[in-house]
Order: sequence, then C-alpha cells, then structure tokens
Amino acid sequence: MIPYLDLHKINDPYQEPFLNRLEGFFKKSRYILGEELSSFEKKFAAYCGVNHCLGVGNGLEALTLIFNAYKILGKLKDGDEVLVPANTYIASILSIINAGLKPVLVETNFSNYNLTFDAVQGAMTQSVKAILMVHLYGQVTDAERIVNFAKEYGLLLIEDAAQAHGAVFGNKKAGAIGNAAGFSFYPGKNLGCLGDGGAVTTDDHDLANCISALRNYGSEMKYHNIYKGINSRLDDIQAIFLSLKLPDLDFDNEKRRGIAKKYLKEIINPKVMLPAYDGTENHVFHLFVVRTEDREAFQLFLLERGIQTLVHYPIAPHKQQAFSEYASLELPVTELIHEQVVSLPLYPMMTNEQIEKVIAVVNEY
Ligand SMILES: *Cc1c(COP(=O)(O)O)cnc(C)c1O
Repeated sequence: MIPYLDLHKINDPYQEPFLNRLEGFFKKSRYILGEELSSFEKKFAAYCGVNHCLGVGNGLEALTLIFNAYKILGKLKDGDEVLVPANTYIASILSIINAGLKPVLVETNFSNYNLTFDAVQGAMTQSVKAILMVHLYGQVTDAERIVNFAKEYGLLLIEDAAQAHGAVFGNKKAGAIGNAAGFSFYPGKNLGCLGDGGAVTTDDHDLANCISALRNYGSEMKYHNIYKGINSRLDDIQAIFLSLKLPDLDFDNEKRRGIAKKYLKEIINPKVMLPAYDGTENHVFHLFVVRTEDREAFQLFLLERGIQTLVHYPIAPHKQQAFSEYASLELPVTELIHEQVVSLPLYPMMTNEQIEKVIAVVNEY
C-alpha cells in the first residue's frame, strides 16, 4: 500500500537526535516559554525573513490571536469584515468569527483554487477592513497585486500560511508577505511537530508584543494581566523537535516539488485535471490536488491498486452544519471543487518506485 502520507518515514530520522536533546531538557525543567521556544522562534523568524515569531498552541489560534491583537491595537473593531476565500479549510473562517469579525466568503477559481486579485477587487466594500489570504495546498498566488491592493485601500493583509512553510513569492517567503501570518505545525504539515503547534510571524513590533502577552493570559509580566488573554503557547518540547526539522525544510520542499513536477509531466489522463503550477518556488506542494468527475470511482480504483488518497476537503465551509447562516450563498466554483478534488500521495520520502506506480495507475484509470 502506498500511504497518502507516511509520517513514520518523515519523523523517524529525528527520533534519535530528539531523544538526545530530551536528556538536557529534563535537567532544565523549564517546559513552557523557555529557552527552547525562544530559540526556535528566532530561527523560524529568520527563516521566514521577519523580525518576530511567536510560538502558539496551533494554527487556528495563531490566526485568531492576530485578529484579536489588531482589535486591541485599534486597527480592527467588532463586526469589521474580512475577505477570505470560500475554498479553504474551515479554520481560516473560524479564526475571523472567533475574533468577533465577519467573514466575507470570496469565490475562487479552478486554476489555483486561491484568491485572485480580481475576486478580491470584486468583493471589496467600505466595511471590509482586512484580507485573509490562504496559501492553499502550499501555493502563494497573485500576492503582488493583492499586497498592493491592500496597501491602496489601507486594509490589513493576513496570511494563512498553515500549508505553505517555505513557499517563496518574488523575494519573500510565506509569512513575510502580509502584515502578519499564522502557521500550523500540525503533524501532517510541511513542518510538523509531534502534536499541536503553531506560530505567528510578523514585522509589526506592536502586534508581536501584544500577541506575546495575549497567548499567555494577557500577561507581559507574571501575574500582571494587561489584556483578557488566552493560554496558547507552543510547548518547548515541540520547539526542540521543530528546531531539529527546520534545517531540512527547504530540502524536503524541493523534493515535494520534484515529485509534483514528475506528476505534472507524466500524468496524462483526460479524466484527471491537474493543478496549475508555474515551476517556481511559490508552491511547496503540501498537497497535490487533482480533480475528477467521479471522485468515488477514482478513489476506489486507486485504492484497489494499493494507493491511498484523501479529500481536502469534502464539504465546502458554507455548506457545513456549523455555518448554516451561509448555506444560501451561491459559490458554484467552490462547491464543484469540493465535489471533485482528490489529493494524491505526496511526501518527501516517497520512493521512485512509489511515484512511478501512482503515475501508472492514475494513467490507467
Ligand atoms: C491546518 C490548517 C489550519 C489550522 O491549523 P491547526 O494547527 O490545525 O489549528 C488553518 N488553515 C489551514 C489552511 C490549514 O491547513
């Protein structure tokens, strides 16, 4: 069986160095907001090319904290509208709602599944104060025009970079494109830890200070609470693991791109629609998502031949029971995408044999 994702293969090389580091960790007995976290924060900020990184509990809270902090800083207020692609993981939209803001779901497109400048422009109104751009499946698209648009209209531009660690657009990495970005280190992400984890990256000094307090009960100094904060901190033990993996991220992403390029070149089947990719580093292929009309039949065909696939995602956010208030929205592109998408196996440790087999079976379908 070719698994959709083999976390064993991804994490096993780090087991021994990690266990070695744990000996020292036990001796120090500083488990939260300690040196290991601040050391990783410095490294990840440098990697993304920003001044600040704050480790938080997970990707959803990274984004929610950004919105809440901008409210505290007076740049957003209750009920302000935020443009967000309708085609995204539900966490993007929840982060806006959880911060007391109003998501405006923007239709996407079949070529890169992301926000486009035209769609952003078309959805713009006086009530919109921010854009949450999602680098879905690991691809940063149309960033230059969206950045300029946000500047022109005085909008905050936030990145949901949960799938795009290491993606580069022009001369900027994901995480350094907007005013701030939220990352997830969920195990299956391109940079994943051994549990939940997340981070905010930003060049905004005030935002960083605010989130630094907000993630820790709103406290800058122990027992002095200046905001109504939450408890959302990246554990030092996860920071150790992430520090071991970070140096290999670019290499792993390059491998992912290599596999994707091979898929794009060698999968030739009119029943299988391939993703758009310009061959640059703007895509880190967190997922390799194809579309096909009869998804169930396609998945079964592959499964019967030993290839596991997943669907990201089967139900559009506005069709989720939790979002019944959006059920009447008409977003036909987003809906069709959710009906047709399938993610093929893709992870850095795939063998050539596995890659070839996926290609052969998909072509046979
Ligand atoms: C994974 C993910 C999140 C949420 O991250 P968690 O760490 O699971 O909370 C947010 N947005 C996108 C696009 C994601 O893929």
